[in-house]
Amino acid sequence: MDATRTMRSMEEFVMEEAALPSAPGEAEHPALALANSAVALPGGHTADLLGTPAQAEQWLTQRDLAPVDTGMAETCATQLRSLREQVRSLLASRVAGQPALRTAVTAINDAMSRVPTASLLLWDEKTGPYRATPHPTTAIVEHALAVIAADAADLLTSSDAARLAACASPPCNRFLVKHGRRQWCSIRCGDRARAARAYARRTTME
Ligand SMILES: [Zn+2]
Repeated sequence: MDATRTMRSMEEFVMEEAALPSAPGEAEHPALALANSAVALPGGHTADLLGTPAQAEQWLTQRDLAPVDTGMAETCATQLRSLREQVRSLLASRVAGQPALRTAVTAINDAMSRVPTASLLLWDEKTGPYRATPHPTTAIVEHALAVIAADAADLLTSSDAARLAACASPPCNRFLVKHGRRQWCSIRCGDRARAARAYARRTTME
């Protein structure tokens, strides 16, 4: 262990470890990105990218799900973390081919229904008619939750659903949309799984 690591706090170390590249499918599916936003790390640590309201706000703005400087409150971050658990539950059910928890399905539908979704006709005095779904700034978080919930519903019913998988490299808890046979969310998880297999082979041969 080098001296610089001992100088850093454990929190910094954990956040750095959590800075994994996105799992396949996250770029297309914000619901998958949300499900993967609390990363289980080797050594029993968890890095929660939504750990504080400021982190939650950053997570949303990075994905264009909220404007910058929303000033998110802890209750908003809690709502987001709560939706994450419901999405994770649904993805796990889908991957296992098991029935979903009714409460998880209801949570997704509630999040979608809580905001107006109709794309209304609006008329700009200068540029003319256009369509948009209006949402008041007071409902920024509700709007973000609705978008993520709708994406979860899409993901679970789209052709991508058959390729949903849980990363096969313990202790990783991320989900991914598989491309080819790769069962890992990242190169690092693949390397760790291969190293663990090689170690297991060596120890059984001894
Ligand atoms: Zn992984």
